[in-house]
Amino acid sequence: MKRETSLEIRRSRRFPGRYARPAGGHRVVVGVGGNLGDVPRRFDRVLDYLRRSGRVRVLRTSPLLKNPPFGYLDQPDFFNAVVEFETRLSPFGLLRWLLWVERRFGRRRSFPNAPRTLDLDIIFYDELRWRSRRLEVPHPRYAERVSVTIPLTLMEKGPR
Ligand code: AMP
Repeated sequence: MKRETSLEIRRSRRFPGRYARPAGGHRVVVGVGGNLGDVPRRFDRVLDYLRRSGRVRVLRTSPLLKNPPFGYLDQPDFFNAVVEFETRLSPFGLLRWLLWVERRFGRRRSFPNAPRTLDLDIIFYDELRWRSRRLEVPHPRYAERVSVTIPLTLMEKGPR
């Protein structure tokens, strides 16, 4: 299964990077994914947008992981990365805002596991453990997904 092994680590202008020192607020890790169009360039624009938003203080980003799709296989490879930031937003306030950012960057929902321009998932929010229909934190199944675990490990190993 050649596709299973075709993981590649890539860099872009903003990934990986260190952006600010901790200054207080809730510590959050968000997973970023996408597989339509020029994804690395879009991630860079999303990062610039997050940094300018005034709602989060971006601390650092992981490298990009290029990885094959799962579920629905007849679609381009995905890029995934993680972003660590601090925020004063509540978990649901953050979720609502991230869904809005996805739409702003062109997300269209069609069917489960379909191609997407931008997917933003809350992986961790402080030490919070929360499980409801609208929000589950830590993100369910993150520990089984190389699309999250590899970027997370590379970010943790990188310079603080
Ligand atoms: P998806 O299509 O995978 O982006 O799923 C989006 C939906 O998942 C959102 O409408 C959220 O209500 C729900 N969801 C549950 N837990 C999370 C989480 N930790 N981060 C982001 N979305 C979540």
